[in-house]
Amino acid sequence: MPIVNINPAATWVNHHQNVSQAYDRLYDVFNPNVDTPDFMTDLQPTISALEGIIGDAINDQKRLRALGGGWSLSTAAVTDGRLINTQNLNWRFPIGAGGVSTGYPGDPSLLMYMQAGMSVAVANNALFEQTRQQALKTSGASNGQTMAGAFSTGTHGSRFQFGAMQDYVVALHIIAGPGRVLWLERASYPVLRDDIVAGVGAQLIRDDTIFNSALVSFGSFGIIYGIVIETEPLYLLEEERHLLPLDARLRQAMLTLDFSGIPTPHPGETPFHFDVVVNPHNPAGGAYVTTMYQRPYHTGYPPPEVSSSGLGPGDDLLAVVGKLGDVAGLIVAPLVNALVTSQYSQFGPGTPKPAQVGTPGEIFFSTVTLQKEMSAEIGVALGDTLRVLDLMLGLPEVKDYPGLLAFRWVKGSKALLAFTRFDTTCTIEFPAAYADNTMAYYNAVWRGLEAAGIPYTLHWGQINNFTPARVQAMYGAAANHWVVSRNAVLDPPARAVFTSPFLQSCGLG
Ligand SMILES: Cc1cc2nc3c(=O)[nH]c(=O)nc-3n(C[C@H](O)[C@H](O)[C@H](O)COP(=O)(O)OP(=O)(O)OC[C@H]3O[C@@H](n4cnc5c(N)ncnc54)[C@H](O)[C@@H]3O)c2cc1C
Repeated sequence: MPIVNINPAATWVNHHQNVSQAYDRLYDVFNPNVDTPDFMTDLQPTISALEGIIGDAINDQKRLRALGGGWSLSTAAVTDGRLINTQNLNWRFPIGAGGVSTGYPGDPSLLMYMQAGMSVAVANNALFEQTRQQALKTSGASNGQTMAGAFSTGTHGSRFQFGAMQDYVVALHIIAGPGRVLWLERASYPVLRDDIVAGVGAQLIRDDTIFNSALVSFGSFGIIYGIVIETEPLYLLEEERHLLPLDARLRQAMLTLDFSGIPTPHPGETPFHFDVVVNPHNPAGGAYVTTMYQRPYHTGYPPPEVSSSGLGPGDDLLAVVGKLGDVAGLIVAPLVNALVTSQYSQFGPGTPKPAQVGTPGEIFFSTVTLQKEMSAEIGVALGDTLRVLDLMLGLPEVKDYPGLLAFRWVKGSKALLAFTRFDTTCTIEFPAAYADNTMAYYNAVWRGLEAAGIPYTLHWGQINNFTPARVQAMYGAAANHWVVSRNAVLDPPARAVFTSPFLQSCGLG
């Protein structure tokens, strides 16, 4: 039997301590204690328990939401009612050739069913297992999110020829209410055999619009219980970081993703990952350019360095900036300059430190304790990258902004509400100290973009300025299709339960 612990009313706080939410109940849900779980039989008891939790919320007229890892800096993860801790739901099952629909176009040996509460860190380990030797196609900078929590807000890295995490999810196993367990796939991309879907007690809905709506839906389509992802044969990433002048050549690379004009460790070879970090207090000092190249997996490489403070070689800038601490009343430019010099080192050819090599799980790794800090992130079209950079550096509020500007790029997503919605989206993150000046700068950037008429989106899981009008401006008809899909998936009582204040503030509920 699954175990469901009901914690009494209290206050939940996210990892970065910028969101707190009073709740009526917090459920901790555990799988039954089974040595070798069976896909066809052992998923059911926990599903029934979760159906019961939704039924209770309907009867008690309480709102309900699944929590992931609690890493979001927005209120997307919470609601003014009951919360479910999903982090103990982390079983996994390979699918294999016998399990797929005849129309499935991919390689079945690379398909993996994961329960939704599996953390990115555990997913990396699970895929790495010696017999399997697979890897996630991409993830965020670090690894504390759950798989469902991460893609539900559109988490991305900088694999610019691919996309974000939701872009490798090909099936969603969703509990949409008591007696309503759904298996969603795209009609254009069938995955699991119909009889297996029926065998796990789910109703199959193959519909591109509904699937693309549910992918990035921040807890609003019910409880995501499991997902099927497409993985990739295990690979290594070779990572280098160099301080380059923020001159016409680097600007051209940021605008086009054509790297032929800048020095790269492997001229002529397209990197797997490219990102640029600008210190707005010293743009004349150059920008930190990180490149990663995909290499076939082999053993015997020196493991990538983890700093004494627990920072991995990936791009966990938020953890770096957290070291600024309380900046109230201080002049921020020297602090940010000192932080960058001490924490953001160069490595790779031409520097004293060698390139770092590791699996994606080793590169995008972080064990730091999360600090009180802030982060917002916008998405703009690739072609607007430099306009936005110049706008951000030119704002008077930048002088007091205790943070950095981090540029990454990803291909546009099919998910209707993905904030990476431009054909190639340049994502710009603003990791910063927890301070009034940080919020003042965020507001100035948003106002500046709107005044300049530059289309932008916002990361659902970070600090934002959503209003119904802004969500309409960002997503237009896609937002309306998303609402129609949600109405098709959830009946009215379940819809009321999964409508949160955040959703209402976005005009989506
Ligand atoms: C240190 C740090 C680094 C980060 N790096 C990046 C980065 O590189 N790139 C990037 O894009 N973002 C990044 N983020 C943002 C982060 O990836 C997102 O906010 C992500 O959504 C957090 O995932 P989580 O598992 O903590 O989920 P939560 O924050 O707990 O929840 C996120 C959403 O998922 C929903 N959800 C969770 N589980 C379920 C479920 N089972 N069923 C239905 N809904 C569910 C919740 O209701 C909520 O709406 C970073 C955040 C931090 C703190």
